[in-house]
Amino acid sequence: MEVNTEQKSRITGAKVKVAVVGAGVVGFSTAVRVAEALPRCSVTLLADKFSPDTTSDGAAGILFAGQFPDIPLERQRRWFQDSFDHLLAIAKSQHAPEAGVLLSSGCQIFKEPPADKRPYWWDTVFGFRFLSERELRHFPEHTFGQAFTTIKCECSSYLPWLRNRFTKAGGKVAQRKVSSFEELSPDYDVIVNCSGLGSKELARDDGVYPVRGQVLKVDAPWLQHFIRDGDGKTYIYPGSRYVTLGGTRQDGDWRLEADPGDTENILERCFRLEPSLRRGRVLGEWVGLRPGRRNPRVESEATRLGGGHGAHVVHNYGHGGWGVSLAWGTAVDAARLVRRCLQETHPHAKL
Ligand code: FAD
Repeated sequence: MEVNTEQKSRITGAKVKVAVVGAGVVGFSTAVRVAEALPRCSVTLLADKFSPDTTSDGAAGILFAGQFPDIPLERQRRWFQDSFDHLLAIAKSQHAPEAGVLLSSGCQIFKEPPADKRPYWWDTVFGFRFLSERELRHFPEHTFGQAFTTIKCECSSYLPWLRNRFTKAGGKVAQRKVSSFEELSPDYDVIVNCSGLGSKELARDDGVYPVRGQVLKVDAPWLQHFIRDGDGKTYIYPGSRYVTLGGTRQDGDWRLEADPGDTENILERCFRLEPSLRRGRVLGEWVGLRPGRRNPRVESEATRLGGGHGAHVVHNYGHGGWGVSLAWGTAVDAARLVRRCLQETHPHAKL
C-alpha cells in the first residue's frame, strides 16, 4: 500500500489523529476519555445525529445493569464501577445540575426471588439491602425486593455538557454520515466505532439488533423514589423535570412512532405499582431503539484497514439497555485500546 503525504507526516512526528464515530453517550464518553487521556492526539467526533436526536437522549439513565453472558464478570464490574465513580464525582460537584447527574434512591421488586439475590454491582451502589416484610406490603404482587441508592444520568443535559468538556479538551466535532471505515482511513490513525445500532451496517455486524423501548414522561412531582419491576419492563423513574414511566422491550422492532396500545399498557402496569400516578399528567411519549447485541463489543480489530499503513479500528458498541450505566467504563477500555494501537504504529510519538 502507498503511504500518502498525510500519513508520512504523522509517522514522522506530527499529531496523531483519532476519529470517534457516534454522538450518543458511548461516543461522547469515549471522545472525552481519549482527548483527556491522550492529550497530544487530535480527536474528531463524527456523527450523523446529535443531541437531542440520539437514543441516549431519551434513556431514563438509571445506573443499573444486567449481566452479559460471555464477558468476564470482573470486566463488567469494572465497567460499572468506573462509570459509577465518574458520574458520582460529577453528582457531587457544582456541575451536577447542568450535567443532569443526580443520586436516586428506590427499589427493585420481584414476583419471584431471582437466582442471584445480589446483582454483581450490589457493593458499588450505596446502601444495598433487601426490602422488609413491611415495605413489601406496598407491592402485593411481589415477594422480594432490593433497595439501594444509585445515580441517574439525564443524557439530554449530560450530552451537551460532555460535548463542552470535549471541545475544552481540544476535540473537534463534525456532522457527517460515515458510510465505511475505509472512507476515513486516509485521514486518521485510529477510528473508534461508537455508532450503536448503526454498527449493524457500518461494522457489517449481523449480531446487532434493535430493542424497541417506549416510555412516557409524566408530571408527578410528589414521587421521589424509583420503582423497577425485576422483569425489566415496568419502571417508574423520577427525574429532575418529570417522571419516566416504562416501558417495553421489543426485540427486532424498528418502529419509532409511539404505539397507543403500549401507552395504555405502560400506564396500567405503572398504576398497579404506584396508584397515585393516576393523578399525574402525561407530558409526552418517546420511543428509542436500544443497540441490542449478545455482548457489547469493546475490542480492536486484529488487522489495520487495507493491511499496511491503514488506520486501526477500535469498536465500542452494542450496550443494549445499559449504555448509560456502562459508557464511561467501556470508554476507559476503548481509550486504552487506542493507546495500544498508537504505540504499535507510532512507537516514538508522544501521546
Ligand atoms: P446512540 O445513543 O444510539 O448513539 C449512536 C450514535 O452513532 C448517534 O450519534 C448516531 O447518529 C451515530 N451513528 C450511527 N451510525 C452512524 C454512521 N454510519 N455515521 C455517522 N454516525 C452514525 N441505559 C441505561 O444504562 N440506563 C437506563 O435507564 C436506560 N433506559 C433506557 C430506556 C429506553 C426506553 C431506551 C430505548 C434505552 C435505555 N437505555 C438505558 C439504553 C441506552 O439508551 C443505550 O444503551 C445507549 O443510549 C446507547 O448509546 P450509544 O451511544 O451506543 O448509541
